[in-house]
Amino acid sequence: MTIEQKLKSVVRDIIDFPKEGIVFKDITPILKDPGLCREIVDEYVRQLEGIHIDEVAAIESRGFFFGVLIAQRLNVPFVPIRKKGKLPYKTIAQSYKLEYGEAIIEVHEDAIVPGQSVLIHDDLLATGGTVGAAAKLIEKLGAKVEAVSFLIELDFLNGREKLKACSENIISLIRYP
Ligand code: IMP
Repeated sequence: MTIEQKLKSVVRDIIDFPKEGIVFKDITPILKDPGLCREIVDEYVRQLEGIHIDEVAAIESRGFFFGVLIAQRLNVPFVPIRKKGKLPYKTIAQSYKLEYGEAIIEVHEDAIVPGQSVLIHDDLLATGGTVGAAAKLIEKLGAKVEAVSFLIELDFLNGREKLKACSENIISLIRYP
């Protein structure tokens, strides 16, 4: 089985979560298989070959699972990007549009050294709004978004098109047409 087939066999669809009409991709079964988690990190490292990464920034909260593991494997610092009000030190903020309304994410103002090449990681790419906002935070701190990575990409929402402006290196391990 390829890693894509393995992942597709364990990611489960949760109907009507968090609200009616939404089919939520639940990645938590992946975390129960340590061998598969290692394979996932191996695959990211393989796909990042030749791309220089100084730091990994990941988005609360499901981005943290593999964001930390990737940073550890690359032997680079990990930077948490969190929802408004969660980070204890001085932060900079970025708002972005949700289907209904707006959300705000933050990062510590000293989290990233200007000029660094950053990998942004999250569990899932849908419309690209969340990662687009994270990319703006990285750029506000004077760093460069060198690559973005996901476990899952929902192709039909065209997030990839939006992200091309942030980085040409877009890695997703499984895609749903
Ligand atoms: P976007 O901003 O539209 O690209 O949505 C991506 C964000 O929403 C990510 O931070 C995901 O964690 C979350 N998300 C949206 N849909 C799902 C899903 O089906 N499963 C898990 N996370 C989701």
